[in-house]
Amino acid sequence: MANLVLPADKAGQHRIEGLVLSVMDYRENDGIIKLAAPDRICTVFARGIQKETSKNRRLAMPASRVILNYDPQYSSSMLYLINGSVEKSYWQVSQSLEMQSVNALLSALIQRYEMTPEIYSDLEAFWKAVCEKQENRAMLYACRLAILILKQAGTVMDVDECAVCGIQKNIAGISMNSGGFVCLDHFDGETGDLKWDKARLRQLRWLVHASRPNLEKLESFRWDLDFFIFLMDWYVFTTDMPLQALSFLKSLARP
Ligand SMILES: [Zn+2]
Repeated sequence: MANLVLPADKAGQHRIEGLVLSVMDYRENDGIIKLAAPDRICTVFARGIQKETSKNRRLAMPASRVILNYDPQYSSSMLYLINGSVEKSYWQVSQSLEMQSVNALLSALIQRYEMTPEIYSDLEAFWKAVCEKQENRAMLYACRLAILILKQAGTVMDVDECAVCGIQKNIAGISMNSGGFVCLDHFDGETGDLKWDKARLRQLRWLVHASRPNLEKLESFRWDLDFFIFLMDWYVFTTDMPLQALSFLKSLARP
C-alpha cells in the first residue's frame, strides 16, 4: 500500500456493483471501503474521500448500493477506486440508533465469513425494510442474516430434537451449553438454559429452516431487538468471538 501510484485518468469498464458494508478512515485523507458483491467481499482503496471536496465521498456511505469503477493497473489486494455512482441509498438506516447498530453488527459479522447471494439479498432487504419503516420485517431479515452467519460459523442451533438425547418430545427450552433445544430431562435453568413457550420455539425452528422464498410467511411472528440480541449472544457464546457493538445495542434495547 505504501507504494501506491497516483490514480490515472479514466480506466473504463472495470467496475463492480455491491453493497457498502463499512468505511474506514485510512491515512490522512483516504478511506477503505468494504464492498459486498453477491459472491465476494472486496476491499476498495478510496483516495481522498475524507476531503469535503471529494466527489467520491458519496460512494462511501454504509447502507447503499453502488457501482464502482476501479483501475486494474493499481488494483491488487485492493481495488483502486476511480469513481462510481450511487444506485440506491438506504440512508434512513443511519437515522435510527437501533437500526444503525444492528447494521453495524451484521456488517462486521458478514465480513468474517464468505459472501453468498442469499446474504447479499437479505442484507439489502433489511435495509429496504428499515427505509419503508417496516420494523417487523426489518428485524425478521436481521434475524435471518444472523442465522445465515451462524450456519457459516457452524454453530447454528439444533432445532429438530433435544440436542442432548435426540428425542423430539417434551422440548422445554433452548440451551447455549447444549447447542439447541433441550427436553424436560435435559433442561437446566441453573446453567442458563432458557424456558421458551412452544410458540417461540416453533418461531425459531421455522426461522432456522426457512428458505428465502418462504421468508414472508414468517412475518406474522413478532421479530424484535430481543430476538436478534438472543441470536447475537448465541454467536458470541458458541464461537467465542467477541462483538464490540453488541453491548451498545443491549443498552439501547434494555435501558
Ligand atoms: Zn433430552
